[in-house]
Amino acid sequence: MGPKIYILRYGHRPQRDKRITSHVALVARSFGAHGFILADVKDDSIERTIKKVSSRWGGSIDFIQGVSSYSFVKEWKRRGGEIIHLTMYGLHIDYVIDLIRRSQKDKLVIVGAEKVPRFFYRIADFNVAVGHQPHSEVAALAVFLDKYFMGRELYLSPSNPTIRIAPSVKGKRVIIYGD
Ligand code: SAM
Repeated sequence: MGPKIYILRYGHRPQRDKRITSHVALVARSFGAHGFILADVKDDSIERTIKKVSSRWGGSIDFIQGVSSYSFVKEWKRRGGEIIHLTMYGLHIDYVIDLIRRSQKDKLVIVGAEKVPRFFYRIADFNVAVGHQPHSEVAALAVFLDKYFMGRELYLSPSNPTIRIAPSVKGKRVIIYGD
């Protein structure tokens, strides 16, 4: 088994970020991450969304919320894991992705919402830019995971789904198990 890859969402504001944080969590799940951490706050609506999707579409992603981002990151590093921070100020992804993939350390990928404090830039083993223009945490994470897994994550079929898509040229075909 290869390294574990966990995504840490920093700076989630329950009043304004529900939709986008749900999308970050959904990308984490469907693009092959093993865990998602909603740091510093609790927002049960995000947990409900991700659990509901997993129970229908299969797989299980470890969901953790309410833990201190600073402590979690420090502890991850103390245990020998690697920290990757997605930021447009970092090194271009194409410059570092092979290095990241080759390292066998477990990976914690930090994505921000509001301004990310300097602490995370400093503690990161890699500050990675998905291009040097501002865009979105959802896009940055999807591109990062796609390059990390070299496109293989799009062929994942999570375990024990109750529903699955049968690809079709036109229209929608789904298979529902247990019917
Ligand atoms: N204003 C915030 C700051 O200065 O830190 C960033 C806000 S941005 C909408 C939210 C998150 O998207 C960032 O923290 C980063 O993780 C991610 N992001 C946006 N553009 C990116 C890029 N070009 N490369 C990597 N990550 C990016």
